[in-house]
Amino acid sequence: MSYNVTLIPGDGIGPEVTEATRRVLDATGLEFNWEVKNAGGEELERSGSLLPEGTLESVRRNKVAIKGPITTPIGKGFRSINVALRQSLDLYSCVRPCKFYKGVNSRYDSVDLVFVRENMEDLYAGVEYRENQPETKRLITEMKKDFGSKLRDDMALSIKTASAYGTRRIVKYAFEYARDNNRRKVTVVHKANIMKFTDGLFLDTAREISKEYPDIEFSEVIVDAITMHLVQYPEDYDVLVLPNLYGDILSDLGAGLIGGPGMAPGGNIGDEFAVFEATHGSAPQIAGQNIANPLAMILSGLMMLRHLREFDAAKRLEKAIAAVIEEGNKVTIDMKHDRNAHDAVGTQEAADAIIGKLQTL
Ligand code: NAD
Repeated sequence: MSYNVTLIPGDGIGPEVTEATRRVLDATGLEFNWEVKNAGGEELERSGSLLPEGTLESVRRNKVAIKGPITTPIGKGFRSINVALRQSLDLYSCVRPCKFYKGVNSRYDSVDLVFVRENMEDLYAGVEYRENQPETKRLITEMKKDFGSKLRDDMALSIKTASAYGTRRIVKYAFEYARDNNRRKVTVVHKANIMKFTDGLFLDTAREISKEYPDIEFSEVIVDAITMHLVQYPEDYDVLVLPNLYGDILSDLGAGLIGGPGMAPGGNIGDEFAVFEATHGSAPQIAGQNIANPLAMILSGLMMLRHLREFDAAKRLEKAIAAVIEEGNKVTIDMKHDRNAHDAVGTQEAADAIIGKLQTL
């Protein structure tokens, strides 16, 4: 059987780490037909579109994509292309496993967390009003009827949203994920003591849905408390389900617990389509130097194999990755205990080491 997969190289270190990932996935012995499609600033210059319909159409047709990071220029009049892609394809679950592999340079050695971040709503929904604009003033005048002097006329507004529909499906996804992957516990993260309606809805929904999963332990934690607790006792947690912004921030904290951005994979998954991409961004400072760590992207490819239910290939690939990390010779500079080490290898050589291991398994 062969798989058609859309490959979006992205920019910055994106083309390097996606190329490394493509080569590793090809070396698993599965057959992939890669359909290379572009998005982002360079594509805007080429075709006049940041996210061409042809790219979206390819993902819709193939149902699955691997994507490199894409730079979001600040203050250029459009929001993140990554957010646009997730919203266009209704990729409502952002799944970010943070697992420690022996040999990784980390302060912790028993972290195995999965962040399930809501991907469509919250402060990320893009419902924003710039200060001093007529539509902002209209809204403030209207809201003053309910909230009076709490509101100043010169405010900018970003609206936090949570729908019953969106909240239900992400919490359900987290419990289903836990069940499918033999995980013991789901923790809901919130700030419902302050944001009584949005986070309150998230928490109430999680409490209600947890009753449908008596086989899975359920707990609830306030976002500030868990931020501290995760640093002290990450082993107390398993699957975490979070509103969009808390998920964004805490999954980066999770990446910090397991060796940094080069080790943190992810998948944006909806009912129909899935786009796999690392947690990290385009790292423009190190682009084009063949020094970026490809592992986060390769581990995202591993998630894709599981999504395609290619469990044998996934198992072999994870073994190969773990062996290369544990041996510690053929890894990029960010994986070295000594940050001035001279024996680090490049992005493509790290991928070659995994390909070499795959051939022995
Ligand atoms: P970043 O993740 O690109 O970089 C943060 C730090 O981590 C930098 O020091 C970088 O060198 C390092 N780093 C990141 N990936 C690495 C890797 N694979 N190997 C070794 N080191 C690595 O975050 P940023 O600097 O905040 O963002 C840069 C750009 O990427 C921004 O435009 C941002 O909007 C965008 N971004 C895109 C995505 C995405 O496409 N999904 C995600 C996050 C950020």
